[in-house]
Amino acid sequence: MNQIEHVKCLIIGSGPAGYTAAIYASRAGLKPVMYTGLQPGGQLMITNDVENYPGYPEGVMGPKMMEDFRLQAARFGTDIRYTLISEVKLDQTPKWVKTDDGKELTADAIIIATGASAKWLGIESEQRLNGFGVSACAVCDGYFFRQQEVAIVGAGDTAAEEATYLSKLCSKVHMIVRRDEMRASKVMQERVFNTPNIQIYWNSETDEILGDTAVTGVRIKNTQTGEKTEIPITGFFVAIGHKPNTDIFKGQLIMDETGYIHTEGKSTRTNLSGVFACGDAQDHVYRQAVTAAGTGCMAALDAERWLVENKLA
Ligand code: NDP
Repeated sequence: MNQIEHVKCLIIGSGPAGYTAAIYASRAGLKPVMYTGLQPGGQLMITNDVENYPGYPEGVMGPKMMEDFRLQAARFGTDIRYTLISEVKLDQTPKWVKTDDGKELTADAIIIATGASAKWLGIESEQRLNGFGVSACAVCDGYFFRQQEVAIVGAGDTAAEEATYLSKLCSKVHMIVRRDEMRASKVMQERVFNTPNIQIYWNSETDEILGDTAVTGVRIKNTQTGEKTEIPITGFFVAIGHKPNTDIFKGQLIMDETGYIHTEGKSTRTNLSGVFACGDAQDHVYRQAVTAAGTGCMAALDAERWLVENKLA
């Protein structure tokens, strides 16, 4: 008969939130077991230079930073497993999970750090030039395009905020909006309208991002007239939303309509006792590596307290 392994503290996900939770949990003697998911290291594995994470004065490549996180978690004894958790039952004691290769485990406390994925347009040139001028994070990559012309696609709060952010660094920001109005809040829209170096292209979709090895321009198409326009740019930012990787928790944890897990007040507690959520799986506002790491720390501290209170640690 299959022996079901029991762990005290299970961490699902391996971005900055997951690894930071692992560092704190292992140093607290919780012997955490981490399942990394399909993309060990998370979104930073597809980022080039990271220049805004404190402690790296010269900047660091995203994958190198995540390797440092992994080594630090491993140093304190985190059991890191390169598999995906594909099924969970969180409302029972202990909680139950199953990996995609069929292994079953039970856990006292679970820390969810499954992150989010940027939504992409899905055109070939976007994929080919990703990391070579195409980015889904203005705060991460805008600095590389200072004094240059860039484009941003999207019309929600993120796009409005990122367009405004880019306008301070770049000589001009071309904002591509697919309808004749923006979804962003009025105040954010006003900010965009009042920024002289942001030019809005209404009713426009991205036909193709131009460039062989790096972005040199974008061709947009007016959906009303069919007219195509080429705009010379060096950076292309996609800001059409994110999708948290929380599908397997649906129906068990309280989430908003997009799937961001609800946490209580300033804690990482979810609606289920002993289940904690951190990083981009629960944060749709900040979404930075450093804030994810911060909430990963909080989740480990919350889990430790919960285990002690329940006489499980
Ligand atoms: P949203 O889902 O709110 O907006 C996505 C935008 O992208 C929409 O304008 C949508 O257009 C557009 N879009 C979607 N798909 C495509 C496509 N294929 N081609 C072109 N455009 C496309 O996502 P956000 O990331 O902007 O915001 C997510 C949540 O986070 C929101 O609740 C927002 O309020 C919140 N937020 C709050 C901030 C703040 O308060 N400071 C900052 C950032 C986010 P359409 O409108 O036509 O559907």
